Amino acid sequence: MINDNVKEANRRKGQYLVKNFEKRGFTAEFCETVEEARERALSFVSEGMKVSWGGSVTLDQLGVRDELRKRDAAGEIEVIDGYAPETKEEQFAEKARALTSDVFFMGTNAVTIDGILANTDGNGNRVAALCFGPKKVIVVIGMNKVCPDLDSALKRISQEATPANAIRLGIPSPCTETGKCVDCGIQAHTICSMTVVTRMCTTGRIHVIMVNEDLGF
Ligand code: SF4
Repeated sequence: MINDNVKEANRRKGQYLVKNFEKRGFTAEFCETVEEARERALSFVSEGMKVSWGGSVTLDQLGVRDELRKRDAAGEIEVIDGYAPETKEEQFAEKARALTSDVFFMGTNAVTIDGILANTDGNGNRVAALCFGPKKVIVVIGMNKVCPDLDSALKRISQEATPANAIRLGIPSPCTETGKCVDCGIQAHTICSMTVVTRMCTTGRIHVIMVNEDLGF
């Protein structure tokens, strides 16, 4: 639960961020609640579309993936879930196919107050979709992800977001022991292979939904 004064500060920060995203070619909006953000995110999906997503606690907190799976089961849309298949080969094939989706949903590891997204991936499928492929990318952001500048955004990723993610995924990287990044270079155990900094959106593909909540990590 966020304190009322912090919520008010977030509102002001959110409006500032919307303007900064728009200056960089993104479209952006600020939602007050998780419910409002879920409704807005799902409004980008129409019958017959192919949709996909990157790994994201934020999306699960919104209930977006559950809702999309229901629509898939009802035959309204096609969900491409690159995390669902059992084998790595099948996962790879589905993650590659996700790049052809109409709408791709994701969170972000960090965002700067002047509207730059920063994301680190282990395999790269999520940042690949952010960079190129899906017709629309919806990025949902809790206000806990906002950082003063790019340096602090990158520190947030390595010191907060990624160790928690490694623990969530049960990956035996050193940060699951230490709780902080030790800049590991263990090929089989790192989830930090590549970092993408998105400073402009020249194609109009990326829509940002900020939420006045703490979401993900
Ligand atoms: S580089 Fe290694 S130790 Fe650092 S956060 Fe990533 S997985 Fe953890």
